[in-house]
Amino acid sequence: MNPENEVKPSTKKRIAVIPGDGIGKEVIPQAVGVMRATGAALEFTEFDWGADRYLRDGTTVPPDGFTMLARDFDAILVGAFGDPRVKTNIHAKEILLGMRFQMDLYANVRPVRLLDAGLCPLKNVEPKDVDFVVLRENTEGVYTDAGGVFKQGTPDEIAMQEDLNTRKGVERIIHYAFEYCRAHRKLDGSPRSKVLMCDKSNAMTHAGGLWQRVFKEVSAGFSEITTQHMYVDALCLQMVRDPRQFDVVVTNNMFGDIITDLAAALQGGLGMAASGNIHPGRTSMFEPVHGSAPPIAGKNLANPFGAILTAAMMLRHLKFTREPDQIEAAVLEAVRLNKTTQDANGTLGTREAGQWVAEHVMI
Ligand code: ATP
Repeated sequence: MNPENEVKPSTKKRIAVIPGDGIGKEVIPQAVGVMRATGAALEFTEFDWGADRYLRDGTTVPPDGFTMLARDFDAILVGAFGDPRVKTNIHAKEILLGMRFQMDLYANVRPVRLLDAGLCPLKNVEPKDVDFVVLRENTEGVYTDAGGVFKQGTPDEIAMQEDLNTRKGVERIIHYAFEYCRAHRKLDGSPRSKVLMCDKSNAMTHAGGLWQRVFKEVSAGFSEITTQHMYVDALCLQMVRDPRQFDVVVTNNMFGDIITDLAAALQGGLGMAASGNIHPGRTSMFEPVHGSAPPIAGKNLANPFGAILTAAMMLRHLKFTREPDQIEAAVLEAVRLNKTTQDANGTLGTREAGQWVAEHVMI
C-alpha cells in the first residue's frame, strides 16, 4: 500500500515539528504553544533535524525520513534551516528542498495580508489593500540545480544553471491557482476573482512559452475567473506602486521566491509572513517565509507571528475552523495593541509576544 494512503488511526491530528536552526528554534515553540492553547486535538512529535544534528553525527535526513513523515503524520511544521557553521548549507538543502521535492509538495502557498496599516512601508495603504496570495511552483525551475561547471577556476570557466519546466509541473500549479481562486475568499468576505500569471517570457521564451500556453489552456476551464499576465519585473514595480490590483498570483519557483520577499515587506517584513508547501491529499509541510536569520538568532528578538500564522494556516488545511480563526484574531489584536517584537514596532521579545498570543487565543 502506498504509505500516503494508509489510514492514520489516531483521532488527534499528528504534527511533526522540525524547528531546525537559528530563529526557527525560537519561533516554532511559540507556534506550538499557541496551538496548544487553543485546545485543538493535536499530537506533536519533535525532530532534531538541522545543523546541530548534522555537526554532531553527519545526519541531514535520517534513512526513510520523508517516507516516515508521509506515513506517520498529518502535517509537518518546520522552522528554518541555515547555520553559519555549515558553509555548504548541505543540511538545509537536503532537508528543506528534499522535503519539497521528494514529497512532491508542488504548491507553495504564500498569503500576503497586511494586518495593520502601521506595518506597511507604503503610504496610504490599509489592510484591505494588501490581501493577495502568491502560488509558487515548488518542485522544478532553476532550484533543481541541474547544470554544471566546466573548466572551473580557469579564465574559460563556464557555469550553466538549467531552468527545468515540465508540462505536468506547470499545469498542476496553474490548475491549483485557479482552484484556489475558486475556493477562497478575501478577508472582507468577497470572492477571489482573478488569477495573474507572472513570468519573463519576453526574454526566456522556451519556458515562458510553455507557461503561456498552459495558462491559456487551463484558464478555459474557469470561465468565471479573470486572467492577467505580467512580466516579473513589471510585477515588482506594480506590487510597490499599487498592491490593491493583486488577487491570486501564480509563478515559477525562482520568481515566487523573490517576489514573496518583496510581498513580505508589504505586510510588515519577513517576520510576519506564513507559507504552506502543499500536495493536495498528502502530508503537507508548513513553514514561515523567513529563514534562520543568524544575526538575530538566540537573542529573543525574532518575530514569532509568521510562525504562529503558519500554524493557523496548517490547522485550516487540516480542516480545523474555530482554532485558526482564534489564532489569527489574537495575532491581529497583538498587532493592533503593539504587543509585538521590535521589527513590528513593539517592545516584546519572541517568548513574550508568543505568550501574549497564547494567552489571548481563547478570549
Ligand atoms: P533564507 O535564504 O534562509 O530564506 P534569508 O536570506 O531570506 O534566509 P532571513 O534569515 O529570512 O534571510 O532573514 C533576513 C533578515 O530579516 C534577518 O537577518 C532579520 O534581520 C530579518 N528577519 C527575518 N525573519 C525575522 C523574524 N522572524 N523576526 C525579525 N526579523 C526577521
